[in-house]
Amino acid sequence: MRRVLIVGAGQCGLQLGLSLLAEGYDVTVMSARTPEEIRGGWPTSTQCMFNLALQSERDYGLNLWEDRVPHVAGLHIALSAPPGQKALDVIGPLDHHGESTDQRLKMAAWLELIEQRGGTVIYQGVTTADLDGLTALGRYDLTIVAAGRGELGALFDRNPSRSPFVSPQRGLAVAYVHGLAPDPMFPQPSVGFNAIPGGFGELFVIPALTLSGPCDILFWEVIPDGPLDLWKERLDPAEHLKRTLELIREYLPWVYERCANVELTDARATLSGRFTPTVRHPVGDLPSGGMVLGAADVVVANDPITGQGSNMAAKCAHAYLQAILAHGDAPFDREWMEETFEKFWIETAVHTTMWTNGMLQPLPEHVQQLLGAASQDQRIARRLANGFSDPTDFQHWFATPEAAKAYLGSLAE
Ligand SMILES: Cc1cc2nc3c(=O)[nH]c(=O)nc-3n(C[C@H](O)[C@H](O)[C@H](O)COP(=O)(O)OP(=O)(O)OC[C@H]3O[C@@H](n4cnc5c(N)ncnc54)[C@H](O)[C@@H]3O)c2cc1C
Repeated sequence: MRRVLIVGAGQCGLQLGLSLLAEGYDVTVMSARTPEEIRGGWPTSTQCMFNLALQSERDYGLNLWEDRVPHVAGLHIALSAPPGQKALDVIGPLDHHGESTDQRLKMAAWLELIEQRGGTVIYQGVTTADLDGLTALGRYDLTIVAAGRGELGALFDRNPSRSPFVSPQRGLAVAYVHGLAPDPMFPQPSVGFNAIPGGFGELFVIPALTLSGPCDILFWEVIPDGPLDLWKERLDPAEHLKRTLELIREYLPWVYERCANVELTDARATLSGRFTPTVRHPVGDLPSGGMVLGAADVVVANDPITGQGSNMAAKCAHAYLQAILAHGDAPFDREWMEETFEKFWIETAVHTTMWTNGMLQPLPEHVQQLLGAASQDQRIARRLANGFSDPTDFQHWFATPEAAKAYLGSLAE
């Protein structure tokens, strides 16, 4: 039985570990935190996931919350100009629903499932020296580092040709709340994407399932050093919510009308921070000659503006699983590791990365035109919403002025 070591108990590491167990592999997961620590900790994401990624979980029976999590029926994009006044609405239904299950709930349960399904869990914050020792022992056929944006990422060199940014492009401020009233323009659970162009930022409103039941997430993405960047220090949760609501009242009054009964879901319901989007080389070399393969956020960490990191982590787990299964008993050498990542990059990650990086810039004219057209034409709005499940579609109609022109022209015929 082939032995795989996975460092990091997040979306990618646990999904890959659980699916490898189902395929008969010997799996060990190293986790910095116990299930109790994860449940009792702070949120780590807004983790909204769409159908393609969710299906890769369903395939291995990992969709444990599907009957309780709000089913996201679509996207409501609102552009404001100037701040405080709405310029346009796009209502884009999804063909298949999306879901956001608090990672505190999901990862704690999946970690327990690893042991229940016959895997081994070692609770330890892993260092490079630990990895060096473990790979030198030769106990595992393959070691995958799926430790998110933590310090182990330094093992993998930044790829400058795929990483256009050298500083964070947004400040992030998340609050999980109960009591938000439904969106009157899209009363089914829907993700709100409120963009405030002109150097301000965006507010996302995401229906989710948390430890205390269904909730909504109010998530500000603010342009660093812009007028909304009041999130440089970590605030006390009550102060965090107060500031979140003050900004909503001033800049997005149509969302504020829904906030009269809003309260935090729990004592640790907030998250703030920022990071530089970075793509890395996939193979980490250890001092004693061992090699490890980086996965998901370790190697492709994009800004959450398009809500794709968990989706990509699931797709990465799926892609690596297929590559491992196809490789049979052959050695997991450098060539295999590089090919495995490159296939994932070309088939999935590059599309998401380019779209996401583009959305961090002022909206180009052709995107403004597409949004204007989508506010009038359900076919465009629907295609836009479904792109969140499969961003490879954007190259065909959204990514360039030429593609947008051809697409709009084809609709007019
Ligand atoms: C504010 C915010 C909002 C987001 N919203 C969305 C969204 O709506 N939709 C979406 O798809 N994505 C979203 N994302 C991105 C998404 O959360 C991540 O991309 C995704 O969780 C990455 O999965 P992963 O498995 O690579 O890493 P993670 O989920 O980060 O898991 C890594 C795990 O490794 C552990 N670990 C770290 N270092 C070590 C170590 N040395 N030893 C042992 N264990 C270690 C960590 O504790 C963690 O459990 C958001 C991110 C942020 C910050």
